[in-house]
Amino acid sequence: MPHVERERWAEEMRKRLAKRMERARPSDDKLAARARSLNDLHFGGRLRWTSIGFAAMSHLWGSCTYTTGAIRIATRAASLPDGVIDYLVVHEMAHLEHSDHGAAFHEMENRYPLTERARGYLMAIDHQVTART
Ligand SMILES: [Zn+2]
Repeated sequence: MPHVERERWAEEMRKRLAKRMERARPSDDKLAARARSLNDLHFGGRLRWTSIGFAAMSHLWGSCTYTTGAIRIATRAASLPDGVIDYLVVHEMAHLEHSDHGAAFHEMENRYPLTERARGYLMAIDHQVTART
Protein backbone atom coordinates (compact mmCIF):
# COMPACT_ATOMS: atom_id res chain seq x y z
CA MET A 1 0.00 0.00 0.00
CA PRO A 2 1.47 3.40 -0.92
CA HIS A 3 2.26 5.68 2.01
CA VAL A 4 -0.50 8.16 1.13
CA GLU A 5 -3.07 5.37 1.00
CA ARG A 6 -1.91 4.04 4.33
CA GLU A 7 -2.22 7.46 5.94
CA ARG A 8 -5.72 7.89 4.57
CA TRP A 9 -6.72 4.46 5.83
CA ALA A 10 -5.30 5.14 9.30
CA GLU A 11 -7.18 8.43 9.39
CA GLU A 12 -10.41 6.66 8.39
CA MET A 13 -9.94 4.06 11.16
CA ARG A 14 -9.27 6.81 13.70
CA LYS A 15 -12.50 8.54 12.70
CA ARG A 16 -14.53 5.34 12.91
CA LEU A 17 -13.11 4.53 16.32
CA ALA A 18 -13.87 8.03 17.58
CA LYS A 19 -17.43 7.70 16.32
CA ARG A 20 -17.85 4.34 18.01
CA MET A 21 -16.54 5.70 21.29
CA GLU A 22 -18.85 8.66 20.99
CA ARG A 23 -21.80 6.29 20.66
CA ALA A 24 -20.64 4.13 23.57
CA ARG A 25 -20.16 7.01 25.98
CA PRO A 26 -23.20 7.46 28.18
CA SER A 27 -24.62 10.87 27.48
CA ASP A 28 -26.89 12.62 29.94
CA ASP A 29 -28.14 14.85 27.12
CA LYS A 30 -29.30 11.87 25.09
CA LEU A 31 -30.97 10.44 28.18
CA ALA A 32 -32.77 13.73 28.80
CA ALA A 33 -33.94 13.81 25.17
CA ARG A 34 -35.31 10.26 25.43
CA ALA A 35 -37.10 11.11 28.66
CA ARG A 36 -38.74 14.11 26.99
CA SER A 37 -39.99 12.10 24.03
CA LEU A 38 -41.17 9.19 26.22
CA ASN A 39 -43.01 11.70 28.39
CA ASP A 40 -44.75 13.15 25.33
CA LEU A 41 -45.48 9.74 23.85
CA HIS A 42 -46.87 7.93 26.90
CA PHE A 43 -47.77 10.53 29.52
CA GLY A 44 -49.06 13.42 27.46
CA GLY A 45 -45.96 15.42 28.46
CA ARG A 46 -47.30 15.99 31.98
CA LEU A 47 -44.42 14.53 34.02
CA ARG A 48 -41.81 16.85 35.51
CA TRP A 49 -38.39 15.88 36.80
CA THR A 50 -35.62 18.08 38.11
CA SER A 51 -32.67 16.17 36.66
CA ILE A 52 -31.88 13.02 34.73
CA GLY A 53 -28.50 11.40 34.14
CA PHE A 54 -26.32 8.35 34.36
CA ALA A 55 -24.77 7.48 37.71
CA ALA A 56 -22.63 4.66 39.04
CA MET A 57 -24.91 2.07 40.68
CA SER A 58 -23.86 -1.47 41.34
CA HIS A 59 -27.13 -3.10 42.39
CA LEU A 60 -29.89 -1.00 40.88
CA TRP A 61 -30.64 -0.24 37.23
CA GLY A 62 -32.11 3.12 38.09
CA SER A 63 -33.49 5.30 40.82
CA CYS A 64 -35.90 8.14 41.23
CA THR A 65 -35.96 10.37 44.26
CA TYR A 66 -39.69 10.89 44.70
CA THR A 67 -39.28 14.01 46.82
CA THR A 68 -36.80 15.86 44.59
CA GLY A 69 -37.70 14.43 41.18
CA ALA A 70 -34.13 13.39 40.36
CA ILE A 71 -33.86 10.40 38.01
CA ARG A 72 -30.66 8.34 37.77
CA ILE A 73 -29.96 5.48 35.39
CA ALA A 74 -27.07 3.09 36.12
CA THR A 75 -24.03 3.79 33.96
CA ARG A 76 -23.73 0.06 33.28
CA ALA A 77 -27.16 0.25 31.61
CA ALA A 78 -25.76 2.55 28.90
CA SER A 79 -24.65 -0.41 26.79
CA LEU A 80 -28.07 -2.11 26.88
CA PRO A 81 -30.40 -2.01 23.84
CA ASP A 82 -32.25 1.29 23.38
CA GLY A 83 -35.62 -0.32 24.13
CA VAL A 84 -34.36 -1.52 27.50
CA ILE A 85 -32.92 1.88 28.43
CA ASP A 86 -36.24 3.46 27.47
CA TYR A 87 -38.01 1.02 29.76
CA LEU A 88 -35.70 1.97 32.65
CA VAL A 89 -36.45 5.64 32.01
CA VAL A 90 -40.22 4.99 31.86
CA HIS A 91 -40.02 2.97 35.10
CA GLU A 92 -38.25 5.79 36.93
CA MET A 93 -40.57 8.40 35.39
CA ALA A 94 -43.57 6.46 36.71
CA HIS A 95 -41.98 6.79 40.16
CA LEU A 96 -42.37 10.57 39.84
CA GLU A 97 -46.08 9.97 40.55
CA HIS A 98 -45.98 6.74 42.53
CA SER A 99 -43.29 5.88 45.06
CA ASP A 100 -44.44 2.24 45.29
CA HIS A 101 -44.88 -0.54 42.71
CA GLY A 102 -48.66 -0.67 43.06
CA ALA A 103 -51.39 -1.06 40.44
CA ALA A 104 -51.37 2.62 39.48
CA PHE A 105 -47.61 2.47 39.02
CA HIS A 106 -47.89 -0.58 36.75
CA GLU A 107 -50.60 1.06 34.70
CA MET A 108 -48.14 3.88 33.92
CA GLU A 109 -45.21 1.56 33.31
CA ASN A 110 -47.25 -0.61 30.95
CA ARG A 111 -48.01 2.31 28.66
CA TYR A 112 -44.54 1.66 27.29
CA PRO A 113 -45.14 -1.22 24.83
CA LEU A 114 -41.82 -3.03 25.40
CA THR A 115 -42.11 -3.17 29.20
CA GLU A 116 -42.58 -6.95 29.48
CA ARG A 117 -39.79 -7.69 27.04
CA ALA A 118 -37.37 -5.28 28.73
CA ARG A 119 -38.16 -6.74 32.16
CA GLY A 120 -37.38 -10.22 30.87
CA TYR A 121 -34.13 -8.97 29.40
CA LEU A 122 -33.04 -7.36 32.67
CA MET A 123 -34.09 -10.40 34.69
CA ALA A 124 -31.86 -12.58 32.50
CA ILE A 125 -28.88 -10.26 33.03
CA ASP A 126 -29.46 -10.02 36.78
CA HIS A 127 -29.73 -13.80 36.92
CA GLN A 128 -26.40 -14.18 35.09
CA VAL A 129 -24.74 -11.78 37.51
CA THR A 130 -26.19 -13.60 40.51
CA ALA A 131 -25.17 -16.98 39.10
CA ARG A 132 -21.60 -15.79 38.69
CA THR A 133 -21.17 -14.41 42.19
ZN1 LIG B 1 -39.16 0.88 40.84
